[in-house]
Amino acid sequence: MATVTFPQARQCVVDHVRAAAPFPGSETVALIDSAGRILAEPVAADRDLPPAPRSIRDGYALRASATPGVFRIAGEVRAGEPSILNLNAGEAIEIMTGAVVPEGADSVVMLEHITAQDGKVRVDAAVPPGSYINPRGSEARAGDSLLSPGTRIGYAEIAVLAATGRLRATVYRKPSVAIVSTGDEVVEIDMQPAPHQVRNSNAYALAAQVVRAGGVPRILPVARDTLEDTCLAIERGLGEDLLLLSGGVSAGKYDVVEQALARFGAEFYFDRVRIQPGQPMVFGRARQKFFFGLPGNPVSTMVTFELIGRIAVELLSGRSHSPLPLTLAPLAAAFRHQTGLTRFLPARLNDDGTLSPVRWQGSSDLAAHSRANAYLVADPDRAEWEKGDLIQVLLQ
Ligand code: AMP
Ligand code: MG
Repeated sequence: MATVTFPQARQCVVDHVRAAAPFPGSETVALIDSAGRILAEPVAADRDLPPAPRSIRDGYALRASATPGVFRIAGEVRAGEPSILNLNAGEAIEIMTGAVVPEGADSVVMLEHITAQDGKVRVDAAVPPGSYINPRGSEARAGDSLLSPGTRIGYAEIAVLAATGRLRATVYRKPSVAIVSTGDEVVEIDMQPAPHQVRNSNAYALAAQVVRAGGVPRILPVARDTLEDTCLAIERGLGEDLLLLSGGVSAGKYDVVEQALARFGAEFYFDRVRIQPGQPMVFGRARQKFFFGLPGNPVSTMVTFELIGRIAVELLSGRSHSPLPLTLAPLAAAFRHQTGLTRFLPARLNDDGTLSPVRWQGSSDLAAHSRANAYLVADPDRAEWEKGDLIQVLLQ
């Protein structure tokens, strides 16, 4: 079976899901309900933006060629008024931010840069033509594309939809994602676990991650570590658009997830990724549905989903583009790791912009993970960083 690097794993998921292109259906929702959804229609400007030359400052509209100089104040134009005034030579018209620039004026001089006295304004410096005016159509022309299908609708996109007069938006349907936890030690979260048992936190963490990625989570009952029980869970899970399994993908005697998936004629694209946490991790397809077998340790489950699973949910929800939010930050203290694996370690981006790894007990330590607000990304080919060195950060 295939072991891949982190970039290979992500690319493999992107390639397979894109190639399968199971195009989601669409639905029409009220504008405000479209926030966070994926746009399924193109949106074009319904008129020039701005529709008329517009002042972007409070000041005086005038002709640049006559500056420096003294101008007679010939009137005023406010935002919300149609422009009826014409500007003649030697005149200035008082203008407010957002107002239409009068015919004949080619510049606006800010209030701060003039001296007004006795119905006149004096401008002491030469003003370049076009100053503080957004010409008609300078932001977009009527008919120009403003948003493409596949765009996630955030507040910036809502502003565009509202500005183009959309009361409703057509968005893709959300993919349903089955979540199956496996493990004889795993009990439902409303039960009191014995010392040898753990509550099924993974299903809920994954459900929250699926929601964030744009899917609808369906938590299925915990599967026992038997081939029969795991097959039953997979059978149900393959009824949804995507199947996530947690646990049972290591090399242990009772790790039966891969064996169970094979019974469904699964194709496996990889089953090991050179990352920590979470080396054992399975991605494949059965009955036309993609599945991920994620490691069961809580931090490994969450991290492998964020890094490699999430993009599948995003693509299945119709999203066309979704890069990982990676950036660089200076380390608050020296850092070293053993080369060979790309490490994604729970870390805190501090108020001063530096990054510190969170002290933790390893990939079972969900308490430490909850104190992190980012991941430190350690390059597999570099062993040491000094305090202040820039290191890669994955934002949460
Ligand atoms: P596994 O990958 O199946 O070997 O699981 C590794 C460890 O992760 C187990 O020993 C459990 O302690 C923990 N674990 C597995 N499944 C879950 C789950 N659904 N919720 C919380 N912890 C889990
Ligand atoms: Mg297990």
